[in-house]
Amino acid sequence: MRILLAEDDRIIADALVRSLKKSGYAVDHVATGADADTALLSQQFDLVILDLGLPKLPGIEVLKRLRGRKSPVPVLILTAQDGVEDRVRGLDAGADDYLTKPFALPELEARVRALTRRGTGMPTRIEVGPLCYDQTDRVARIDGQVVELSARELGLLEILLLRAGRLVNKEQLVDHLCGWGEEVSTNAIEVYVHRLRKKLESGGVKIITVRGLGYCLEKPDGGG
Ligand code: CA
Repeated sequence: MRILLAEDDRIIADALVRSLKKSGYAVDHVATGADADTALLSQQFDLVILDLGLPKLPGIEVLKRLRGRKSPVPVLILTAQDGVEDRVRGLDAGADDYLTKPFALPELEARVRALTRRGTGMPTRIEVGPLCYDQTDRVARIDGQVVELSARELGLLEILLLRAGRLVNKEQLVDHLCGWGEEVSTNAIEVYVHRLRKKLESGGVKIITVRGLGYCLEKPDGGG
């Protein structure tokens, strides 16, 4: 899951980036509305966290332009405590949800989980063979047993699950797992896949390597 965070307050931005990365999201941070607009024009994101009070271009304008281009990406706006009108304008302009500052990080994470789920059309629970993944609390279980996963492994599993039975190439994985400026090579991806595979394989869930192309989470026959 790749998130664009547009926030000009350094302290808030740093805290959000840290917390979201720890949860296994790839986060790209911009500090102006103009940079947010540019990023949204050139790249795909699974979610946008948009402060409305941004320099260079107001957040509301970034949102209007985004929706003007018919982009369906979920947008969570951040507004000031007394910004009732801002919230209304933001929702009218196509925001999916809002949080007022100051907010608690767990609350933000809960909104992020809900919105990324909605954006991907991923059901709350997804089952592939004996593997059951709960998007609400982001926990994977095989035959009822919790599979302990690192943030990277969790991010990787989500992408493979979204495309279960289909090929995911390494570039797509790098794209989804890493924010800008993060050096993650395709070799590192191989290591993450190797670790995830080992954790899933004993439970009978297979990640197939398509040499030179990428990976595919095997979908058992008859599975929807
Ligand atoms: Ca601001």
